[in-house]
Amino acid sequence: MGEKLYGVAKGMKNFIMLTLGTGVGAGIIVNGELVYGHDGFAGELGHICMDRSDDARQCGCGLRGCLETYCSATGVARTAREFLQKTTRPSSLRNKPADKIESLDVYNAALEGDEIAKEIFKFTGTILGWACADFTAFASPEAFVFFGGLCKSGDLIMKPVEEAYKKNVMPLFRNKAKFVISSLMNKNAAVLGASALGWV
Ligand SMILES: [Zn+2]
Repeated sequence: MGEKLYGVAKGMKNFIMLTLGTGVGAGIIVNGELVYGHDGFAGELGHICMDRSDDARQCGCGLRGCLETYCSATGVARTAREFLQKTTRPSSLRNKPADKIESLDVYNAALEGDEIAKEIFKFTGTILGWACADFTAFASPEAFVFFGGLCKSGDLIMKPVEEAYKKNVMPLFRNKAKFVISSLMNKNAAVLGASALGWV
């Protein structure tokens, strides 16, 4: 709601907000209203299933293969460990003990042109793009608004998101939704969001 009143979603009545932090959080605005569901918990989009195989990643919520096990900062670090283990290709990420790698390390390595780091972002963005394509079938948002540390990686993540989205969204919806980054980052967004509730 903060994004709708003060941020990039000003004037929008249908959009989905995705927060890529330690986990993946979401808010769904339909017809100008936040979707609460019958118990207030609607919008747990971080826990839709992206992988139903037996070895899918364990999520903190108790399920397996959740979106947030891939598309959060911790998901990126997890992908880094997996990718480094799968191959012996050189990467500057190997300079750090695997269990100490953070998403920021992957970002810095990608900026320096590290191939594995770039592949990690492509993998992460692709999964997020698939998820957005599914969300579109459900709510037909005019925009996806991204928030959180991970979207500061800019094109590294957003390009694969948009590519995967384009390929996987129902043709009826193609080239309609915008992908934008929040304008409230570093601006006390939680307080703005809470205060926005006073206006609705
Ligand atoms: Zn989960």
